[in-house]
Amino acid sequence: MLTSVRRIITQAYRQHRLVVAFNTMNAETTLAVARAARQVGAPTLFEISEKTIVYLGLETVVALVRAASHEAGGRVPLGLHLDHGRSFKLCASAIRAGFSSVMIDGSALPFKANVQLTKRVVDFARRHRVMVQGEVGALVPRRRLTHLRVASELMTDPVQAREFVRLTGVDSLGVAVGTLHGPIKMFRKLPKIDFKRLRVIHEFVRVPLVLHGGSGVPVPDLKRAAKLGVTVVNIDTELRLAYLAAMRRELARQRNEYDPRVVFGPVVAALTALAVQKLRRLAR
Ligand SMILES: [Zn+2]
Repeated sequence: MLTSVRRIITQAYRQHRLVVAFNTMNAETTLAVARAARQVGAPTLFEISEKTIVYLGLETVVALVRAASHEAGGRVPLGLHLDHGRSFKLCASAIRAGFSSVMIDGSALPFKANVQLTKRVVDFARRHRVMVQGEVGALVPRRRLTHLRVASELMTDPVQAREFVRLTGVDSLGVAVGTLHGPIKMFRKLPKIDFKRLRVIHEFVRVPLVLHGGSGVPVPDLKRAAKLGVTVVNIDTELRLAYLAAMRRELARQRNEYDPRVVFGPVVAALTALAVQKLRRLAR
């Protein structure tokens, strides 16, 4: 059932529960997330990135998520959210197309420009009753960081976060507190959350916080973060890796198969199992 992201997040925030936001990019990933949410009975978010919109088309994305929510998701509340919208234009078209939540990511801009861009999206979204997530601090992929000192300098500053929320009126805030995008971390060492920083941000900022780059972060750490205002955890990389691993395995196993559906069936099953596991550990 496609429902408003605001309703899902507000309820979870009050109860210190986590909502998992899975990045989906095609029929297989979308179906897997809807089926997993239904199986576990946990309100869940579909996150769509700009890359996916370019890949599938905006209308197709909305139709796919809407249909899968009704059919495969049953009665469990599912929400549609735009991940890392980098421009007003993209956020506005997502809102017009039916997203009930958008992220405007101006974190690469100077603070003042980030505030201006975010405020513009908030003003537009308000008129459509759509929720807006902003971001201060940077979640750049690790490969772009030259050394770790730089990583800590890019983390969200609590005072700046408070100022940002006050000036923009965002409904939720993506924070950089040690997690990073991308798969490298999964092969080197586990991302570490800076809980001291998170605690101060939580004291300063009274909106739900969003943890990006949740793949590979230990479950106890995420549970601890939930007590410090983190309401949404984004999972992308783990799904991508599981997708391709299952696909490679099936292609090797079924060398003579000529029906793609026979190959993709087990892929959807593998993704569903992973999403079920994530939801059971995090969202209940
Ligand atoms: Zn992100």
